Amino acid sequence: MANVLVFTEVHDGKVKPVTLEILGKLAGQSADVAVVGDLGADQVAELAKNGAQNVHKLKGANLDKYSPEGYANALAEFIKSKNYDYVFGGATSMGKDLLPRLATKFNAGLASDVVNFVFEGGNFAGTRPLFAGKCLAKVEITGPKPHFVSIRPNALGMTASPTGGAGAAADVNANAGEIRAAIKDIIKAASTKVDLTEANIIVTGGRAMKNAENFKILNEMADVIGATVGASRAAVDSGFAPHAMQVGQTGKTVAPSLYIACGVSGAIQHLAGMRTSKVIVAINTDPDAPIFTKADYGIVGDLFTIVPIMTEEFKKLLGK
Ligand SMILES: Cc1cc2nc3c(=O)[nH]c(=O)nc-3n(C[C@H](O)[C@H](O)[C@H](O)COP(=O)(O)OP(=O)(O)OC[C@H]3O[C@@H](n4cnc5c(N)ncnc54)[C@H](O)[C@@H]3O)c2cc1C
Repeated sequence: MANVLVFTEVHDGKVKPVTLEILGKLAGQSADVAVVGDLGADQVAELAKNGAQNVHKLKGANLDKYSPEGYANALAEFIKSKNYDYVFGGATSMGKDLLPRLATKFNAGLASDVVNFVFEGGNFAGTRPLFAGKCLAKVEITGPKPHFVSIRPNALGMTASPTGGAGAAADVNANAGEIRAAIKDIIKAASTKVDLTEANIIVTGGRAMKNAENFKILNEMADVIGATVGASRAAVDSGFAPHAMQVGQTGKTVAPSLYIACGVSGAIQHLAGMRTSKVIVAINTDPDAPIFTKADYGIVGDLFTIVPIMTEEFKKLLGK
């Protein structure tokens, strides 16, 4: 059995869902959770339900906001005081910044953006996409422990009946050390929708949307089915949508249960960001569009006709 620490991010008082995905998948290992700052009793209970044995709340000066150096220093000191074999976290914006920093502090290996893993005799073996998702590599980490792993949000999915843990919560005095680059302010995006990287359903518009106003038909469909709206780079570069909505190699990497691509050709750089979606639906006027080679369901037709029909059908099905 491996001793694992899962670092969790907290947003608006809630742990990121990827933490619960990781904990569920770690059933059979001994899993603790570390958070920088405070965490409410309801969230500690949620972590315990999903398998956390201990919840360590790292508290100290200059740790109220995320800073790469402060968090890395505080976590490194804590990890050194324990005997963890593995440290996991989400491959989120923060995780992609923090975990490599932490791994270098231990001169240890990092498997990044992992989409699945198992433990074979207490040793981690994971899969991660390579070459813009064209192939999956099996990765193992060698060298000194602890080893570090970042997990792509939504890739593992939630475990239906997780094995619970004790969920013993305790404060830990933490030291942020020297911070040379501090975050002064965090400006939230205006949207109240779920972040693209965590969305369970995504409706994406491509260049075929023609302008920003036309995205309203995607927003309408998204509202009915509880989806978040994304965009291709061509749509973003044309000014139809902000960059925060871009899916792909130079945008967000997503793995929702359902991805509906509307007027998106399916260029390799777009596929790089969404090909691990569980079910892909493509609407395109061109039957030879590359997106159809990756789609589970393809609709050849004009999105301006198809999307409103689908929205009406979803309303009927969902009683909205
Ligand atoms: C280094 C690099 C990084 C990149 N990163 C990204 C990235 O992160 N994300 C990304 O998306 N792209 C990225 N790109 C760009 C990528 O190569 C494509 O140019 C882009 O994805 C095309 O966007 P699109 O599919 O919306 O547009 P197009 O390729 O122009 O496709 C539009 C599609 O809409 C269809 N269509 C037209 N009218 C309708 C209609 N009425 N109804 C239905 N279908 C219709 C057409 O048949 C066509 O297939 C990157 C490129 C490079 C070089």
